[in-house]
Amino acid sequence: MSEKQTLGFQAEVAQLLQLMIHSLYSNKEIFLRELISNASDAADKLRFEAINDASLFEDDSDLKIKVSFDKAARTITIADNGIGMTRDEAILHLGTIAKSGTKEFFGKLSGDQQKDAAMIGQFGVGFYSGFIVADKITVESRRAGTTATEGVRWESTGAGDFSVEAIVKSDRGTAITLHLREGEDDFLSAYKLKSVIRTYSDHISLPIMMQKEEWDEEKKEQVLRDELETVNQASALWARNKNDITPEQYEEFYKHISHDYTAPLTHTHNRVEGRSEYTQLLYIPSRAPFDMWDRNKRGGIKLYVKRVFIMDDAEQLMPVYLRFVKGIIDTNDLPLNVSREILQESRDIKAIREGSTKRVLGMLEELANAEGEDDSSAKQEKFAGFWKEFGQVLKEGIGEDASNKDRIAKLLRFASTHNDSDAQNVSLADYLSRVKEGQDKIYYVTADSYIAGKNSPHLEIFRKKGVEVLLLTDRVDEWMLSFLTEFEGKELVSVAKGDLDLGKLEDEAEKKQHEETETEFKDLVEKMKVALADKAKDVRVTFRLTDSPACLVADDNELSGNLMRMLKAAGQ
Ligand code: ADP
Ligand code: MG
Repeated sequence: MSEKQTLGFQAEVAQLLQLMIHSLYSNKEIFLRELISNASDAADKLRFEAINDASLFEDDSDLKIKVSFDKAARTITIADNGIGMTRDEAILHLGTIAKSGTKEFFGKLSGDQQKDAAMIGQFGVGFYSGFIVADKITVESRRAGTTATEGVRWESTGAGDFSVEAIVKSDRGTAITLHLREGEDDFLSAYKLKSVIRTYSDHISLPIMMQKEEWDEEKKEQVLRDELETVNQASALWARNKNDITPEQYEEFYKHISHDYTAPLTHTHNRVEGRSEYTQLLYIPSRAPFDMWDRNKRGGIKLYVKRVFIMDDAEQLMPVYLRFVKGIIDTNDLPLNVSREILQESRDIKAIREGSTKRVLGMLEELANAEGEDDSSAKQEKFAGFWKEFGQVLKEGIGEDASNKDRIAKLLRFASTHNDSDAQNVSLADYLSRVKEGQDKIYYVTADSYIAGKNSPHLEIFRKKGVEVLLLTDRVDEWMLSFLTEFEGKELVSVAKGDLDLGKLEDEAEKKQHEETETEFKDLVEKMKVALADKAKDVRVTFRLTDSPACLVADDNELSGNLMRMLKAAGQ
């Protein structure tokens, strides 16, 4: 198939293009970051494939990115000698969106430009961002390992379809040419392009090259020389000294690896030495990705071995309950040809995972326990943001990671009867600081919603006695509580279960009165037991209610009503 072919974009691509051009215009220079980021990914992929087949380098193993412009033609070109694309790959990668959850994502768009712009950033802007400044994009590519005649030219005006045709391309890799829209001539300047590259792409470990500029006395203007210069620092960011990295560089690096458009909440960067040696640069995003609950989604950690990219989404490097963490791990201890199977067995990987888990928990603790520090309110606000986005995922750690359970428990936040809002901001330590004299338990109620929890009849006696009760309404709570039975020596007890033991919260007079009441109602209770024989296991006189006449409770060792409803809903 060598003839020129015109194909339509997948519907979602057309939608994305429309949306992007309008909503990201105010930040249009990010197109350069996206295209350079792709070129860098392409180099990583080539290096990785070449581990097993060095012939892919075709005598050109000096990987780099070249950015150039043509004032007369009004074009900018970003060229790389990375992995390249075949015709089929160009059609697939530049005509469709392969991301999982794409359909759901587009279903969520509201039509409100501002809100959708925020969503789009979360989705990742990518290659199509070129159309913010270009009214036509030409991609010429040849995949490593194919012959010069197997090149492909892909072209589109971004309006619904694109063309592909065969070309002869002697050099491997991809060149992307943007034909600028009217009014975008600002970008036809070495100074402008360099400053955008330094702002957004300095962290890229490949050299980004541009032609040198020189002042011409006769023409009285800058002219381009044939010589190339490297515009960025061109060293792996994570291998640099912490003190030499600016917050902006950390942020841009995050955007590069995460494909997230929003700045991260916080990061940690360490070189670990000792039995296993590795560098970790880990970030906590400020927003949950749209596909966080997608079961097929893997983790967000990229694995490098001695600076060589090995794989994305190396899920063995982070426990599942920390799947929202993004970053890179670079180790010297693994062979370059390491596979996912080997990772599963590797003791080095296990050590790295444990070390990284501790670092992430440390990052969260630093935000959560910022009290008294200069920037404490900013940190606490960040922690509140974290909890809102990722709290439910972190809760999974209580069951999943026994060795860090205590640390995770301290990070938990709940809604509580102490506050008059559904905000989850009460820690177990906060709760303990307010227990009543003689109270030796932590009380909670689980419910489908905050309103249902707050209005639960089970709370009546606690209100009366002024005892705080945690209100748990997340789906994972019941499951989590089966692993979290005590905190700092105090048992966690559901107010809806069995014989409510208020312990020392009940005084002698009350106990005596209860006994008398029980005797008084003995006959009635017996009659009710008979009448409800096939509906209720037991009928008891209760003192936990003050206003409601009756309530249902679960046996101590039985599933609670809420969990039963959940299991039923899940079809079990
Ligand atoms: P992402 O980078 O998140 O995968 P993009 O929209 O930026 O999404 O790019 C889409 C796909 O197009 C890439 O995943 C890659 O397969 C392909 N691609 C883009 N640019 C290049 C390039 N310079 N070299 C090789 N493949 C590329
Ligand atoms: Mg990309």
